[in-house]
Amino acid sequence: MTSSEQIWQSIKSYLKSSLDDSLFQEWIEPLSLDIPNCTSNIITLKLPNLVYYQGLQNEFSPHFRAAKDALGYQMIDIRFQVNEHSAIPSIELDGPNGLAIEPFEMFPEEPEGELNDENRHRRDSEVNEATQPTPKPGSGFSRSLSREVGLKHEYTFENFVRGTSNQFAMATCMSVADNPGAAYNPLFIYGSTGLGKTHLLHAVGNRVLQKNKHAVVTYISSENFMNEMIYCLRHNKMWEFRQKYRFCDVLMIDDVQFIANKKATQEEFFHTFNTLYAAKKQIVITSDLFPQDIPDIEDRLRNRFQWGLIADIQPPDVEHRIAILNKKAEQLGVKLDDDVSEYIAKHAKRNIRELEGALHRIHAYSKLHARALSMDLALETFKDVLGEPPKRLTVEHVQKAVADHFKLKIADLKSKRRQRAVAYPRQVAMYLARKMTGASFPEIGDRFGGKDHTTVMHNVRKIEDSLLRDLDLKAHVESLERQLEQSH
Ligand code: ADP
Ligand code: MG
Repeated sequence: MTSSEQIWQSIKSYLKSSLDDSLFQEWIEPLSLDIPNCTSNIITLKLPNLVYYQGLQNEFSPHFRAAKDALGYQMIDIRFQVNEHSAIPSIELDGPNGLAIEPFEMFPEEPEGELNDENRHRRDSEVNEATQPTPKPGSGFSRSLSREVGLKHEYTFENFVRGTSNQFAMATCMSVADNPGAAYNPLFIYGSTGLGKTHLLHAVGNRVLQKNKHAVVTYISSENFMNEMIYCLRHNKMWEFRQKYRFCDVLMIDDVQFIANKKATQEEFFHTFNTLYAAKKQIVITSDLFPQDIPDIEDRLRNRFQWGLIADIQPPDVEHRIAILNKKAEQLGVKLDDDVSEYIAKHAKRNIRELEGALHRIHAYSKLHARALSMDLALETFKDVLGEPPKRLTVEHVQKAVADHFKLKIADLKSKRRQRAVAYPRQVAMYLARKMTGASFPEIGDRFGGKDHTTVMHNVRKIEDSLLRDLDLKAHVESLERQLEQSH
């Protein structure tokens, strides 16, 4: 019988002749045979790391199959082993369950100084080219794009007030944080806006890091996942992108409903999910909709969202709102009388963000007028506000205000005209739309005559930068902001 060494050499030369040289060098050359001279019909190849596994799985299985067919090695079973410590994490390239892979040590000692806690928590979730190190296969993975998790320290379980509406979601998050990858995978949390989903995600991340400071925790909103992906596609950095998202102990994707309609993002996320899931790494997802109700999302993804556990968060009742309010007041260092917190909690009932907003408002009001936080003050502060739904500021409102301010037509703002007299107000309008309406970059692009969302991002950044220097611009922007706030 031919030795595995001979078989591998002939498959390798076949691949060398059938693949582009660079692909061959990048993907096939680094593979090495596990036991060179054995004579079984199983060939085990060692991979430098899991990225290779994913790449081979996605791109090269047909080539391996063709090589085996051409050389008459159909009965040879090619398997992979990711590193020496792993317990035969073998995958059959052409098997139906190609993703079965055993756990293995993905995160050996981290390089000194790179991943200390301070860096980990630096809050800058932007992709920053200048600070990107080149990822070294096999060494500390991830965080090659934005290298900090961006977790809010104050979003902890201790600061999360439990009630009947959220206790299930909270309990599942806690067990996931205590046993990442083992308890429920994925954990899918859904509930409408302002009910604490993001808070819980951060709490998971904070607790995981508290228990193991070397754990790689990645938090990203699905919108930023998409933005980073597009950036990386354009700048040939998909390798780094995949390093970041496919090699973490805990990946948390916030507001996943945003990827409805985004085919390429869904595709990328699907593979990210598979890699992490196969490696038994924890995935936590939030959404404002139940998986079945997210429109325009691929079934295979919807399906996977339901593999683990789904927990919902409902709006809190009035007692729960009072408890949350008191906790937030305590954090602010103020004491609320019972009648005051009851009054606020009864009126700010839509969600907890509104509740917090009300608290900050009355706090600010009492400081401003140097008055005690009494019921009278509460009545005065909220006489026109609480209970009435605030009118929502829309992109159209912003466009109208900016067009009036600069004496243009709304159509000018939506046009493609590049003269400064039009382009500059347009940039201001995009900036204000993003800042004041919460609309996403793609939505804003749509409202401005179908502009690409990267154009919007670029314009918004430009204004952000100029605001630091340009006092004239600052005056325009501030006046517009005041005007928009007052009219709504
Ligand atoms: P979502 O992501 O669901 O829209 P967030 O997590 O952003 O909501 O929550 C909005 C605000 O309400 C945050 O400041 C969060 O700290 C607070 N919050 C929500 N639920 C609770 C809770 N049970 N206890 C304390 N604070 C809460
Ligand atoms: Mg959120």
